Amino acid sequence: MKRIGILGATGSIGIQTLEIVRDHREDIQVTALAAGSNAALLERQIREFRPRLAALYDEKAAKDLKERVSDLNVRVSCKMDGLLEIASMEETDALVTAVVGMIGVVPTLTAIQNGKDILLANKETLVTAGHLLMPLAKEKGVSVLPVDSEHSAIFQCLNGEKRGQVKKILLTASGGPFRGKKREELAGVRAEDALKHPNWSMGRKITIDSATLVNKGLEMMEARWLFDVEPERIQIVVQPQSVIHSMVEYVDGSVIAQLGLPDMKLPIQYALFYPDRLPMKLPELDFYELSQITFEKPDMETFYGLKLAFDAMRAGGSMPTVYNAANERAVALFLAHKISFLQIAEIIERCMQAHKTVENPNVETILETESWTYDTIRREIMPASLSGE
Ligand code: NDP
Ligand code: MG
Repeated sequence: MKRIGILGATGSIGIQTLEIVRDHREDIQVTALAAGSNAALLERQIREFRPRLAALYDEKAAKDLKERVSDLNVRVSCKMDGLLEIASMEETDALVTAVVGMIGVVPTLTAIQNGKDILLANKETLVTAGHLLMPLAKEKGVSVLPVDSEHSAIFQCLNGEKRGQVKKILLTASGGPFRGKKREELAGVRAEDALKHPNWSMGRKITIDSATLVNKGLEMMEARWLFDVEPERIQIVVQPQSVIHSMVEYVDGSVIAQLGLPDMKLPIQYALFYPDRLPMKLPELDFYELSQITFEKPDMETFYGLKLAFDAMRAGGSMPTVYNAANERAVALFLAHKISFLQIAEIIERCMQAHKTVENPNVETILETESWTYDTIRREIMPASLSGE
């Protein structure tokens, strides 16, 4: 019996994780569930999966939840303390990190510190703190299993191979809803247009990240830490059908790919039961119907946010934190209709230009850099449109 906690239980990844658990109740026990503020859904999840601990980051929502589940044997906590309690609780073997954003950094490091395996969806944590997280995981002997579909694919392509014989990681991208468009055509797009992803159904932030290709930039940095590869050995390949989830090229020229339907349940289940593969209630990949798989080079002029990711990755240190934090804030502003689509990359670039990289930042410096980035946007980049906040 594997005992898991889930941070971000009410989100896209969290819900799908629980759907898999529902089919495997004899193998997986849910010990803790956490979310941001959605008390109504968390209550339903608590009633079904009966965790011992629950947390909502929002204090008021946590109070509401406490009343809702007062008839059950579950403790409810809030704020960062609640997430950390879940990350360190004795009764958990593995933590699914499915929160969105840098809020995942400290809980993930805490869970590793406490010997929990990590099923990692929360890519922002690896992007900003990968240089701390991976060595800590090694020291504590815990596994960091990727949930992100590309990284799950790379992980599968590396199975049984020698790491020293890897030549390149080929990270695939769908290209998002605006593939093939030019900058001028993107000037006026609205959040509603950007939220229509052609292949994947995901949370709002990552869907916007997929439209700007910033998601691919974040995934590149995620891959860099997860698989310990130098930035120069990661190549991005646009593959619009989202059937090849990524590939690994070896020194002999062989390229191994992992294919499957674009459904996050596949990588989530693989991480939950690794190294086993279990049957899945999904339609089969029908190659006759698919008929073709095509490839393109990413357009980094139009999708400038991806180019900036290369710059941030090469600069290293605290720069990926600036890249990530600026993007988090810019996406929130775009979703609130306060900035245009193209301004997302502009804001990231201006923050990166204003930042002086700190080498090898510790957690405090990472969090300070995050706050510095938000302050810079508020004070210097967007004062006019934010004055009402
Ligand atoms: P969603 O927006 O759907 O869900 C986010 C989850 O995080 C919700 O449960 C939300 O709670 C919770 N949350 C938000 N803020 C806090 C907080 N301060 N404290 C605790 N919980 C919080 O996101 P996704 O599921 O799409 O993505 C989650 C992560 O997984 C992201 O890092 C994303 O990049 C990554 N990922 C997602 C994929 C996907 O297919 N969705 C694919 C690959 C990676 P509430 O509902 O209460 O707000
Ligand atoms: Mg992905």
